[in-house]
Amino acid sequence: MRMDKTEFSNKLKNLKTDGKSTIELYNEISLLAMQYGLSQADVPAQRNAYYLSMEFLIGRSFFNNLMELGVLDETRELLKEKGVDINVFEEIEDAALGNGGLGRLAACFLDSAAGLGLPLHGYGIRYKYGLFKQAIRNGFQVELPDDWQSFGDPWSIRKAHGKRKIKFADMTVTAVPYDMPVFGKRVNVLRLWQAEGSAAAQKISEYLYPADDTEDGKLLRLRQEYFFSAAAVGELVEKYVKLHGKNFDDFADHNVIQLNDTHPVLAIAELIRVLTTKYKLGFDKAEGIAKKTFAYTNHTVMPEALECWGASLVKKILPDIYDVLIKLQESQTSEFKRLCCSEAEASEMAIYANDKFSMANLAVYVGNTVNGVAKLHTDILKTDLFKTAYKYYPNKFQNKTNGITQRRWLMLCNRELSELLDGTIGSAWRDDISKLGVLNAHVSDMLGGFVKVKTEKKRQLFEYIKKHEGVYIPENFMVYAQVKRLHEYKRQLMTAFAILEIYKGLTDGKIKDFRPSVFVFGAKSAPSYKRAKAIIKFINDIADKINSDPRTNALLRVVFVKNYNVSYAEKIVAGTDVSLQVSTAGLEASGTGNMKFMMNGAVTCGTMDGANIEIVELAGKENNYIFGADVDEIERLKRGDYDPNAILKADAYHSYAVNTLIDGTFSDGDTGGFKELYDALTVGASWHKPDHYFVLHDLKSYVEALLKINTDSKDEKAFAVKQIKNVANSAHFSSDRTIKEYASDIWKIK
Ligand SMILES: *Cc1c(COP(=O)(O)O)cnc(C)c1O
Repeated sequence: MRMDKTEFSNKLKNLKTDGKSTIELYNEISLLAMQYGLSQADVPAQRNAYYLSMEFLIGRSFFNNLMELGVLDETRELLKEKGVDINVFEEIEDAALGNGGLGRLAACFLDSAAGLGLPLHGYGIRYKYGLFKQAIRNGFQVELPDDWQSFGDPWSIRKAHGKRKIKFADMTVTAVPYDMPVFGKRVNVLRLWQAEGSAAAQKISEYLYPADDTEDGKLLRLRQEYFFSAAAVGELVEKYVKLHGKNFDDFADHNVIQLNDTHPVLAIAELIRVLTTKYKLGFDKAEGIAKKTFAYTNHTVMPEALECWGASLVKKILPDIYDVLIKLQESQTSEFKRLCCSEAEASEMAIYANDKFSMANLAVYVGNTVNGVAKLHTDILKTDLFKTAYKYYPNKFQNKTNGITQRRWLMLCNRELSELLDGTIGSAWRDDISKLGVLNAHVSDMLGGFVKVKTEKKRQLFEYIKKHEGVYIPENFMVYAQVKRLHEYKRQLMTAFAILEIYKGLTDGKIKDFRPSVFVFGAKSAPSYKRAKAIIKFINDIADKINSDPRTNALLRVVFVKNYNVSYAEKIVAGTDVSLQVSTAGLEASGTGNMKFMMNGAVTCGTMDGANIEIVELAGKENNYIFGADVDEIERLKRGDYDPNAILKADAYHSYAVNTLIDGTFSDGDTGGFKELYDALTVGASWHKPDHYFVLHDLKSYVEALLKINTDSKDEKAFAVKQIKNVANSAHFSSDRTIKEYASDIWKIK
């Protein structure tokens, strides 16, 4: 049943709200919007791109979808007339079907493609439980199940007729699709597969990323990856046959499949398996089709994230896939002979080596293109991680710097700034984000308004933090924020030390005229990552100590917000002055949090890593604060005899901060976590040298940068200019730009 805008408005006007619960209203309004939104659905495109991703970190769909459908303001007003504040729907759980940046990128890409009218669809898993909900007890992270469907799931439609059988050697699982429409200029589809059947079968879509530090965990992970990849490939092949028959010569003209990291790489083997067994194509022909169909995005150079599957495990549960992988290895070996690769080179690029299958090497070999996610990251792929592949297949390699959707990350989360932009440069930027650059010529027109907006967004953030964390932050405070997954390479520990040094400087009189500031942290740690959990505890202990010290708490406060997620991020990025992006150079592939902050007018305090490099290139070094070792320096330090203990000894402030880990200032509840952090910095461990993320190397320049920002910010106007310059130059980091590049350089879709 089609529904036009007038009908939607009338139904909304007639909606009875009296006596209804938030859940009921949420479902009724969402279903109305779905009906209206799906009425705009387009004819299917001739050539489609498919984004296969183990994660889609969607967040809340309610506000975003109403905005995309152009009915958010109207709904807000109508509800207000009925005495309902639209913000009650902030109670709705986020759909957290992802861990962090990689999953959020997938969601931003779908949003941008729909917004640009490009036929890109997503395939993933409909986890029953998303990323755990984080509670903090006694300063420690506690993981609780994330029942994201507890308010219902009105934005998905179960498509029972699209169900498929997925075969493992020991069981057959039914994959049932749930479609989430993605609204924009086109209506695209995110199709998430739910596993049904026996109890063992259902387990496949029960949890996002079960711990894979056990054999059972590994097996389940492998099943998940094959499950959704096979469901997607099977469906695409069937659809092709229906439309074009069993001659597969044109398959790659109609379908292009983007592999979001290595998780869906088994889709390659599955396509070849289906074409050779069900449709009797020769292996070489099937391989040729796969080579034209797939493209691969690498997201990290961290060795632990480059997946390898034990050959015996694959053989046991996916024997046909095992056979295909071995044949691919043979075909690869003969190609390497033709190319005259040395033995060492061949083994470096091998799909199969040491009884393992390398998903990255498979993706690089078959992938039509291989891309990194920021200029520096792509350079590292070419010169380091995949250097040999780059030597033999230089044309495969491309850069596609990540982006974020300005619809969620500016228009939705910062209505005040968006309206100020409309008033300053007109509203053309809303349809064409590149127009944001016009603001460069109007910075001074916006100064007063910008300061007002920032103050208001801080007030809203502080109110939210008070409500959720019980921590009060006075209105005039400057906001420094580091929010992202907790990982040693992201160096939240370095920020913790820097705060302790500032705290000491304030108490002993070394630091004077400090502008009152709050450090906001938000981060989840992988449940089994002991050091990361110890860092969370450390930060919470620091917050308790500093916030309750009457000597300093009018000047310095620290808050660790629990359960950092997309909805919390929307509040934080809008209300922050300083974005902390301080990873060890060379290790953050791109980052996207950095882009969200920039677009909302925060200056970046960061290292020359990932997309930070491009941010300062565009917004100006003078409008941001770069410190610490760059990639070349890190390489030199690794080759030389880097000695963190000498740095520690030579600086009383460093010693003070680092020693709080072991001198009884704080307590880790006998977990040994703090001592392990201390040892990691000062003596190393069996698998790494002391301080292998170079925290102590960069700490001094980090504290200096933080203090410089503090001083600079006292000139309110000059500082606002820097912040506005960041907004004005952020269009490049819109995922609209990224998606246009993928569409023209890789997907060839219109
Ligand atoms: C953007 C985002 C991330 C990624 O942040 P980085 O700073 O790039 O690591 C992670 N989690 C959530 C909830 C996000 O919105």
